[in-house]
This record gives sequence, structure tokens and C-alpha cells, in this order.
Amino acid sequence: MRGMFGQLSEGQEPHALMIACSDSRVVPNLITDTRPGELFVERNPGNIAPVFSTKLMGAASASIEYAVGVLQVPNIIVCGHSDCGVMKGILSPKTVKKLPAVRHWLEFGPSPEEVAEIEDPVERLEMLTELNVLMQVENLKTHPSVAAKWKKGRIGLFGWVFDIETGAVRAWDEKKGKFLPWPPEPGEKRTKGK
Ligand SMILES: [Zn+2]
Repeated sequence: MRGMFGQLSEGQEPHALMIACSDSRVVPNLITDTRPGELFVERNPGNIAPVFSTKLMGAASASIEYAVGVLQVPNIIVCGHSDCGVMKGILSPKTVKKLPAVRHWLEFGPSPEEVAEIEDPVERLEMLTELNVLMQVENLKTHPSVAAKWKKGRIGLFGWVFDIETGAVRAWDEKKGKFLPWPPEPGEKRTKGK
């Protein structure tokens, strides 16, 4: 890979910022079939993009600001995944009782009440995972660097869910109002992101 890294040694121009979970089974470059230099990655438990706040500026917000403001990434993908421990933690607060940092971090995710009426536990987890992705995509728009470009249509915001078992990706389709298999079938019309 020396040649490739030689070319990359003087700079980077990634196609996207990907916000993915820290989960060891979620590997952004594998999911997107990309090589070094193509993807700027922010990984944290639960693929969170916290609401912008001048009081609470953490690593995730710095990643967003740098990727959008300096690297000028044209796309941001928030990628959730199946069997996410963070989503499970939201559904079972008891499991994170003794984990104060995790408990605090979960506050950036959706409330378990939003899916309380879903009886099937598998469906409940899946719905919470999807809701979380959409919530984080919305949160991106609270970041001044993103908002400025979003209003002018200069940045694409995408919500994905990666299924660990099959390797399949579902992407949010704004017009149809649901997650659909990604990439689309050849010739299939899709709205672009959110
Ligand atoms: Zn996860």
C-alpha cells in the first residue's frame, strides 16, 4: 500500500463524513467498500451526533466541524446497526445502572417511550435504532457548519442502518418515509437523503 499512502501523504479529500458506532463489528471502510483517504470517520457508542451546544463541545462535534468546515466533505452519513448495545441500553436502563458515563451518553439518544407500544422486542429494537439514526441526522442540522451548507443544498445528509448478519444496508428515503435497501436496484428512482 506504499504507493497509495505516498499519494495520500500530502492531504486528504474524503467523499464523506461517516458517523458510526464504536461496535467492533461495524467497520465503515468495509461497509462502504472504501480505501484510506475516502472516508472521514467519527465513531462513538450509538453513532451519536450531539445537538450543537457552545457549552458542551465534545469530540463528535469537533469531528463534524472539522470534516465540514475544513475538509469540505460533500456528504454526511449517520450509520446505525443491528444488535447495538447502546440501543439495548436505552431499552434496558438497568443494564447501564453502574455505568455513569454510558448512562449520560444515552441521553443523546431517543427515549425508550417512543417505542414502548411495540410488543415484539426485535421490532422494538429495530425501530429504536432507526429513530436514533433519524434523530442524529436532524441533530446535524443544529451544527452551524452543517446548517449553512444544508440550507444551500451543498451537503447531503444520509441515514443508514447496517445489518450485521447479512451485511445489508438500509437507507432512509425521505419521500417514501421509510428505510429502503441501499444501494437501489439499477433504474430504481430514489430521493437523495434527508
Ligand atoms: Zn452500536
